[in-house]
Amino acid sequence: MKESILHYVWQNKLFTAYDMKTTTGELVEVIDVGKLNTDAGPDFFNAKIRIGDTLWAGNVEIHTCSTDWSKHNHHVDKAYDSVILHVVKEADTDVFRIDGENIPQVELVYPKHIETNYDHLINEQKWIPCANKIGFVPSIFIQSWKNALLMERLEQKMQSIESLLAANNQHWEEAFYITLARNFGFGTNSQAFEHLANSTPLSVLGKHKDQLFQLEAILFGQAGLLQADTHDDYVEGLKKEYEFLSAKYGLKQMDAVQWKLLRLRPDNFPHIRIAQFAALIHSSSKLFSKILDNPEIHFLRTLFACKPSDYWQTHYLLAHESDKKDKNLGTQSINVILINTVIPFLFCYAYQKNNQILKDKALELLEQIPGEKNAIVNGWQNLGLKIESAFDSQALLHLKKYYCDDKKCLRCRIGNKVLTMKK
Ligand code: SF4
Repeated sequence: MKESILHYVWQNKLFTAYDMKTTTGELVEVIDVGKLNTDAGPDFFNAKIRIGDTLWAGNVEIHTCSTDWSKHNHHVDKAYDSVILHVVKEADTDVFRIDGENIPQVELVYPKHIETNYDHLINEQKWIPCANKIGFVPSIFIQSWKNALLMERLEQKMQSIESLLAANNQHWEEAFYITLARNFGFGTNSQAFEHLANSTPLSVLGKHKDQLFQLEAILFGQAGLLQADTHDDYVEGLKKEYEFLSAKYGLKQMDAVQWKLLRLRPDNFPHIRIAQFAALIHSSSKLFSKILDNPEIHFLRTLFACKPSDYWQTHYLLAHESDKKDKNLGTQSINVILINTVIPFLFCYAYQKNNQILKDKALELLEQIPGEKNAIVNGWQNLGLKIESAFDSQALLHLKKYYCDDKKCLRCRIGNKVLTMKK
């Protein structure tokens, strides 16, 4: 028996309240279960409980059995003197405050199926613990949980953005540039891209934004990718340009070993992503301001549809010619950037400026983008959940990672429904 299920039953008032009595036979009426305390001290604060004829206000401590009270040294801890009721599954002894006063106790009685369902969730080895039951949870209920999950996800992303803003003197464009660069790494090269952005000030790129070749020279040079000797005019030109510009701005290149190509499709090679990133900076300065001015899906798609310089139409790597192919940033990649960088930034900005219209716009954008396609999203679809947009996929990715994988079913609204199912 885990204490967490007793907390859950108490917090959600799932216990049998009728004829609840203390171990000494006094009637107990729970008026308010109190507020769950996740820090040190008693489990629930500010409960209101009538015991016999007396109305008590104070804290509640919950244990599997009464002997845990002294095992946890509460009998010598002043913090537990404020406990007005000790709630247990099994009352196997009396419990006392420091001054020796007896603390009232009740044995918690609740429907057996709650415990059976809980044991099932905890021991289930399927893709998610409630895989067999989720189909019985009404979709309207799942939808409202998705809304809450999406908010939780955006708030989590907001925290990273706020830390980045704090580290960059509240400079929105700089923070956006670093996050966007990280996003251009598309997982495998995210860290390397972030390093590249951190070592290449946006202000330096801004001074050369009209010259795509110079932007490429700075970025490929800073990435440490211009070291080998080649007979390729483009590469040798980049090298010369970088030599001059890096000396001018005191730039320090990173170690090329940070870039990974293994198991990547050529379209995803860091060279292609750097060329696209350079093209994006070339096509628009003050990117985040532009987005704020026109946060419409069509505009955003056009803004990010960047086309690298001609050299990259016939190359995936420096100095290695390949068949001709467009290397424009594709729709799926643009969607990933909108979902992971643009929308969280819009939401964070709207939150800081208390701009409800912009907040709604950020959420609307998520509804206008198709849901991601990956193994986790497929898993949810296989269980019968509909993924109509990135709003749904983002909420469910969050649910899987932060609830299902850690079996936090007691904190999940679907879990709440599953636990109280009679069959
Ligand atoms: S966390 Fe929620 S959705 Fe995930 S397995 Fe538990 S009850 Fe199901």
